[in-house]
Amino acid sequence: MYQTSQPHHFYNHYEPELPKKGDILLSYDGRNILLKNGMSFFHYEDISQDIQYRYLFKIDDTNFYLCDLMFMHPISLDIQTMRSYQPKEYAFAAITGWHLYDWYRNNVFCGRCASKMIEDTKERAMRCPNCGNLVYPRINPVVIVAIKNDQDELLVTKYAHASYSKFALVAGFIEIGETSEEAAIREAKEETGLDITDLTFYKDQPWGFSSSLIFTYVAKAHGNQKITLEDHELKIAQWVTRNDTYVDPKDDASITSEMIHKYLEGEL
Ligand SMILES: [Zn+2]
Repeated sequence: MYQTSQPHHFYNHYEPELPKKGDILLSYDGRNILLKNGMSFFHYEDISQDIQYRYLFKIDDTNFYLCDLMFMHPISLDIQTMRSYQPKEYAFAAITGWHLYDWYRNNVFCGRCASKMIEDTKERAMRCPNCGNLVYPRINPVVIVAIKNDQDELLVTKYAHASYSKFALVAGFIEIGETSEEAAIREAKEETGLDITDLTFYKDQPWGFSSSLIFTYVAKAHGNQKITLEDHELKIAQWVTRNDTYVDPKDDASITSEMIHKYLEGEL
């Protein structure tokens, strides 16, 4: 997983500070991140002209700012390439920075009265000076569920259309008015026709690529239930055993990969 972990500390409390030497400048263009040649980050001391710095967050003593660095003739890479970036806490910063960039660019104008929004000074929010509308960063909740049957086999899937082509687990966005457990049960039924029970929470993970927070569960599909594939979502849904190591996505970033890997290791 690409989250920050000990000994590093992610400070997301909104306390804007002026940039200092060593601080990192994040810049994006649509779904691309803009970096220096060699895939290194721009630092405050690289910039000699007056530009706008929007404070994002801090990891340990390094502040991160959102800037427009097109004028620096950066290289432009799909944000997905940051999944495997090292060190991991910088991958996490780049992806979380993209989440905030996407939110800021979608909230330039008030959705209620169309006036230009301004940044709130006390918390991370955009405020409409005309009607008072206050907009906080948007987080789209997602649920992922690792389903096991009575033979201790795991259900793995492959998406029908998504760019991600490795094995995955049943997943979907949580709808308005339902809990994460209800969403897991509904998604399992919709995507595979399976009725699941005995849900156990595994862990959660921020996932900036889809501006999400992912809740994960392990669940049971009892009896010999038939898989009915929802073929516009999935092209494969099959049971595998702990010996089927070919299904390991070997993707260091995702919690799905961690769960499949742990199952194959006999730990899930
Ligand atoms: Zn307004």
